[in-house]
Amino acid sequence: MSDPKLNPIDNPVASLGGLRREKLARLSKLGIHTIADLLWYGPKRYEDRNRPQKIEDLVKGDIATVAGVIKAGGVKRMRGGRSMFEFIVDDGTSRLNCRWWNMPYMNRYYKAGDNVHVHGKISAQKPLTMDHPEAEVDEEGDEFIHLKRVVPVYRLTEGIQQRWLRSVMWQAVDQFAEKVTDVHSNWIEGDDGYWFSLKKAFKEIHFPDDTEQASLARERLALEEFIRFYCRIKDKRQLFQSKIKALDCSGDDSLMKPFLSNIGFDLTGAQQRAWFDISRDMKGSFPMRRLLQGDVGSGKTVVAACAAVQAVESGFSVVLLAPTEILAEQHYRVFKKWFEPLGINVHLHTGSKKTLDSIDRQQCELDVIERALPPVVVGTHALVEDKFSLNNLGLAIIDEQHKFGVEQRKKLVRKGHYPHVLVMTATPIPRTLGLTVYGDLDCSIIDELPPGRGRVRTFVRSPDSLPKVWEFIRGKVTEGRQAYIVYPRVDDQGGGSIKAVNQEFESVKENLAPHSVGLIHGKLKPSEKEEAISGFLSGEIKVLLSTSVIEVGVDIPNSTIMLIENADRFGLAQLHQLRGRIGRGSFESYCILIAGDISEEGRRRLNVMEKCRDGFMLAEEDLRQRGPGELLGKTQSGMPNFNFGDLVEDWILIQKARSLVDRNYNI
Ligand code: ADP
Ligand code: MG
Repeated sequence: MSDPKLNPIDNPVASLGGLRREKLARLSKLGIHTIADLLWYGPKRYEDRNRPQKIEDLVKGDIATVAGVIKAGGVKRMRGGRSMFEFIVDDGTSRLNCRWWNMPYMNRYYKAGDNVHVHGKISAQKPLTMDHPEAEVDEEGDEFIHLKRVVPVYRLTEGIQQRWLRSVMWQAVDQFAEKVTDVHSNWIEGDDGYWFSLKKAFKEIHFPDDTEQASLARERLALEEFIRFYCRIKDKRQLFQSKIKALDCSGDDSLMKPFLSNIGFDLTGAQQRAWFDISRDMKGSFPMRRLLQGDVGSGKTVVAACAAVQAVESGFSVVLLAPTEILAEQHYRVFKKWFEPLGINVHLHTGSKKTLDSIDRQQCELDVIERALPPVVVGTHALVEDKFSLNNLGLAIIDEQHKFGVEQRKKLVRKGHYPHVLVMTATPIPRTLGLTVYGDLDCSIIDELPPGRGRVRTFVRSPDSLPKVWEFIRGKVTEGRQAYIVYPRVDDQGGGSIKAVNQEFESVKENLAPHSVGLIHGKLKPSEKEEAISGFLSGEIKVLLSTSVIEVGVDIPNSTIMLIENADRFGLAQLHQLRGRIGRGSFESYCILIAGDISEEGRRRLNVMEKCRDGFMLAEEDLRQRGPGELLGKTQSGMPNFNFGDLVEDWILIQKARSLVDRNYNI
């Protein structure tokens, strides 16, 4: 039964009347349960049935819609029990063969003499043929919905036919588009430009006057989705802020002053601005929820360290979560160097190493009782495990946060009572995703590299040039520099030209003798990994062969060469991360991307790396080429789903939505 208080568009589709139950079940497979779901279900494309294309103009490879009369048709039995249904369409200019395999029942629906529309790709020229096109028979009286107009074509599922869905949609738009609650059109009015009301947008998205109107409608509906998305974020945030009071992490500068004067460099302007935001948040009355973005090597760690110092100064402990043991150990080393002179204890807590053992735990508790300083604990996902706990958690820092799932982040934060949270990422997030996936976080950006960095040059080369490349690497290593060599795989999986680090190790060692060569990858024991990294760090190992495990965070300024084999196997953002491992000192650095026989498209992608140093631009290019899911990784389940909004293209709409919500929410 429908609830009269409810907006009628929130009623089940069944309230349209005349629909069979079995059809309703099928619709729900498309995610359509209510009238609103139906209205928000946009066409995947349109067909201009006022202007079909002429068959005589078509050539192989064209995607086209044509309209004509079925001349002949029938089912042919083929060998192996297969069958083919075929008909020939004549539109007065020429003829087109349409074929479907193993769908003999189609014979029942298409008869000689029927007027049909077919849409598909021309798969052969002689005779002109379409394989598996979409086809629809015209019937009398169809003018308004299916004919002589721009018609919508929807994504279907089994048991739902195009014409049926189109008719249902017509009914829904006709009866319900005007009942949609449309508060935001008032917000948009008075802003620049002309925008449809929602009512008109729904009409034009499904049954447009022409394709231009359809595209205006799409923009209006996308804008509506983004506005609603930000409103939900605001709701959540206000609820959170009304309930939760922040821990007082105001600090007293007693440790901050000596910390800043001991690190050995001055913060860059961008670091200072980011630090200012963070420090202010931590003094505020709501728990901090901030994202710190900065390209590889921009110096996020020291800013996080400032936050840690302010928390400790205020009497609270700190955890820092890193995605790999290699990175956790690096942070541990750096924090120890910075913090121990100040009297702050630093602990490591990873799957393989837990310096915070039971004795330390007692010590921590004693520390608290004796009003000594609370500790900083650096670790990996082991920190997230149920067993781990820490008294008085005031600040949770998550480094390279895109490597973690939303659940892991939440679990870490739950280790305390609403601690301040700082998440950091060096994988530059394309602007559109930044505003959506991280829409609930405040954002600070470090957009400047520390001074005195050497130039990084990037070259794409074919495997033929490897002998010269080895020569070059030998020369640089002799001069005292170090190199990374990265492979897409740990072990050879046989057949093919994809190189694996284990198989290449011996020959590279021989090739570079007498220089020492180390090996690291995800399948090594933690102690072996640590040995490799510390050997490389001390300079004992000159060349480190690796998989992408060194992708994030590793900071070794003397390494100036990054050679990546089968570079086309990596995404642009990932290549940029890998390249971020070099150019961290004052020497000139070289990133060499090796790619063999790859597609034109693949080559173009790699050439972008040669020209572009800007991680944000690369990430946007990656987003365009590989889509948001791929770029963010499977773990980012917080990804919103938009029917009309496009996270690749709609930057302007997303910005507009955000500013409209900021201006109008709560007024
Ligand atoms: P990322 O942002 O990629 O995490 P890091 O925090 O690892 O970068 O910093 C890269 C290197 O730059 C580190 O060796 C760090 O000590 C150094 N560094 C950071 N800030 C400055 C600065 N303001 N001046 C000089 N060196 C800096
Ligand atoms: Mg880092």
